[in-house]
Amino acid sequence: MVAPRRVIVIGDGTAGLSVANKLGFRLQHSPVEITVIGNSPRHYYKPGGLFISLGDRDLKRYSKGTKFLLSSRISHVRAEVTGINQSERYVLTKGGKRHTYDYAVIASGARYCPDKIPGFEGEAKHFYSFNHALELQRYLSKFNEGNLVVGIPDAPVSFSPALVEFTLLADEYMRTAGVREKVQITLFFPGKDPLYAGGVPSYLKAVLSERDIEIVSDFSLNAVSQKNKEILSGSGDSLKYDLLVVPPPHRGQTFAADSGFDNFNDFINVNEKSLQYKEFPEIFVIGDAAHFESGSVPMSGSAAVFQSGVVSERISGELGGLSFAKDYRGEAIHEIFLGDKRGISVHFIDGKVQEGKVAELDFHLKRVGSDSYFSKIVRGMM
Ligand SMILES: Cc1cc2nc3c(=O)[nH]c(=O)nc-3n(C[C@H](O)[C@H](O)[C@H](O)COP(=O)(O)OP(=O)(O)OC[C@H]3O[C@@H](n4cnc5c(N)ncnc54)[C@H](O)[C@@H]3O)c2cc1C
Repeated sequence: MVAPRRVIVIGDGTAGLSVANKLGFRLQHSPVEITVIGNSPRHYYKPGGLFISLGDRDLKRYSKGTKFLLSSRISHVRAEVTGINQSERYVLTKGGKRHTYDYAVIASGARYCPDKIPGFEGEAKHFYSFNHALELQRYLSKFNEGNLVVGIPDAPVSFSPALVEFTLLADEYMRTAGVREKVQITLFFPGKDPLYAGGVPSYLKAVLSERDIEIVSDFSLNAVSQKNKEILSGSGDSLKYDLLVVPPPHRGQTFAADSGFDNFNDFINVNEKSLQYKEFPEIFVIGDAAHFESGSVPMSGSAAVFQSGVVSERISGELGGLSFAKDYRGEAIHEIFLGDKRGISVHFIDGKVQEGKVAELDFHLKRVGSDSYFSKIVRGMM
């Protein structure tokens, strides 16, 4: 009897769940074992952190048991991946167990590293995890006057537009609370653009100036002086704050470098079209774990979901003996909140960015996003 072929997905987040479910559907009649190895008993809809930081207490809405989100056709192994042996084709988990594969998909996301910026830990608040979002909620509810400084640390950061969204929603929150006149709001970012590196788009400039929000570009965050309540840039500039909101610097998982993968800050360098890893075409890398050297692919859940479609087609095609191989074209769709029930939709494809019009529709789509996220997106139906 021929042993079944094995696909291992490393990581049980947006990219891992989506690619595993898509593979499960495509290979439903094939004798292929699909296993997800991940260390998350629960899966979180991360944009929920934004709403929680601004007062939302309905936390249940934004998380589900991980197993519940995987098709019954797929095995979920709860374990910590510690390495991948590329030439012998096995994944190593804590405790020394080997899991052999014919195909591996690395979807292990990003690691938060507050220690990379001196003075950051314990001082900067953020909403990139639900615990931190709840902490920020407590600080914001008592913040009645002073400097609110919001910023983006050096790239790459998962969905950096979330900081722009936070700035505009915090403005709205403070207007509703009747304290906006006593609060100065500043948004800083490295480079020329808080969104997509082309310069601050005109619609965003207009919205920020209408709301009296100061923009500081080319500010590369180097250190936080807790004593002086100021942040310092690499070129010697500084900004005073009373409340500082910045996500921690991001890195890839340590097992990437430990296993000898070619990487940038532990994010694995990947072929931008095939999403395969260099000389090991049976290894694919998707989602926040991947590094795209062109810089034209955003780090986002939407990009991860498009990538999961390409990889599931490629793997199921190869296992089914098909020669057709779909390429990734840098696709992603970002819905960005602008406050006051407005938003904008931004599309990425072939290295180009297309912005839609500011509209009310996008706001509603994103606000109810967790429902379609859990019922369709991570289940591989989109
Ligand atoms: C506040 C916020 C708002 C956002 N808003 C949007 C938005 O509006 N639109 C959008 O498109 N994107 C948005 N994003 C980005 C989006 O959430 C991420 O890009 C997406 O979750 C990345 O998916 P991933 O699977 O690559 O990583 P993750 O979802 O982080 O999953 C990685 C998984 O791998 C597991 N893992 C890691 N290391 C190991 C290991 N060694 N062993 C075993 N398991 C491991 C983790 O536990 C986790 O389950 C937002 C993000 C944040 C933080």
